[in-house]
Amino acid sequence: MNKKNSMKLGIYVHIPFCVRKCVYCDFLSAPAGNDMRQAYLEALKKELACEAENYRGYEADTVFFGGGTPSLLEARELTDCLEQLRTHYRIARDAEMTLEVNPKTVTQEKLVQLRAAGINRLSIGLQSAEDEELRLLGRIHTYADFLQTYEWARAAGFDNINIDLISGIPGQTTAAWQETLEKVLRLRPEHISAYSLIVEEGTPLYEHLEEYPKLPDEECDRQMYRETKQLLEEQGYERYEISNYAREGFACRHNRIYWQRGRHHTSDYVGFGLGATSMVGCLRWKNTADMKRYLSLCHAGDIDALKEERETLSERDCMAEFMLLGLRMTCGVSAKEFYDTFRMKVEAVYGDVLKKYEKYGLLARDRDWIYLTDAGIDVSNVVLADFL
Ligand code: SF4
Repeated sequence: MNKKNSMKLGIYVHIPFCVRKCVYCDFLSAPAGNDMRQAYLEALKKELACEAENYRGYEADTVFFGGGTPSLLEARELTDCLEQLRTHYRIARDAEMTLEVNPKTVTQEKLVQLRAAGINRLSIGLQSAEDEELRLLGRIHTYADFLQTYEWARAAGFDNINIDLISGIPGQTTAAWQETLEKVLRLRPEHISAYSLIVEEGTPLYEHLEEYPKLPDEECDRQMYRETKQLLEEQGYERYEISNYAREGFACRHNRIYWQRGRHHTSDYVGFGLGATSMVGCLRWKNTADMKRYLSLCHAGDIDALKEERETLSERDCMAEFMLLGLRMTCGVSAKEFYDTFRMKVEAVYGDVLKKYEKYGLLARDRDWIYLTDAGIDVSNVVLADFL
């Protein structure tokens, strides 16, 4: 069997529609009417069919419908997409099949249909268990709406559920954040993602920041981060990546493809749909983010022209990716794997950076492994940027 035949593939499908924009959101998503949705799904089908030839011999280990709000689609539309994927791609029998879900966009019946269609993991966007914070963020749901969705999901047979949370919301206190964590922990989801809010330029939150309650300061933000780790670890959740926690056996396989790809070079990932990114071998590209262009190119069958920002990663880029992504995982990177991959010692390439941050106590070593310390995780952006 040649290398390509043994390659695993992670498939991402982007659904760029939302009921309305949340005030902090800079993802590629927008509200859309039925006509636009149908046109997009047609285009997506075409892209999936036309691209399949490039992935013969790969086996998809994970499929991830992200957005946007993919759960906004009808069960029939999502089932069609899955069928299209199964028709054209080899999907592993035990593949992890994730759907991002927002409360108030599903019914119990829809969840039952999606489970029957093969979706076996849900990632539910809760963000906060406090209604006032949800209102501030411009979310379309309350905590009660989320609870309803969660109960329906369990009843529909979903036994692998992630809950997405955001800390550092305007006006949020550490006590309020703790309350959100405690409420979520009582539900015992298999996985929790807890990110700090980033106020992105161009979002309504950024533009009108002065109209919102004060953002928690940096120290408060770190305190929330430390509490998250402590509380979740006490409850049996392992932090396996800077912002991701899982009960044993439930780390997200799809995300691990991104983070560990640099390390093992055994998995490629391909993104379909508007603005989706792909990394195959040393090639990286991003689909156009222009909806009109996406629809017309797919319609014309000119799928290759969708791919923009193409770049071939140099050996040095691959090394940087290996370090940058690998160090996001709490286990860190293995010096031996670095050598096996690049035939160079990690010290020969990054000796100065490693020494500097080890001296500051931000990086540490345990035999073969190099990893960020808790203090290093606090300032991970700065440390990781130094590997570029
Ligand atoms: S639901 Fe998610 S993707 Fe949609 S607007 Fe809100 S944050 Fe953005």
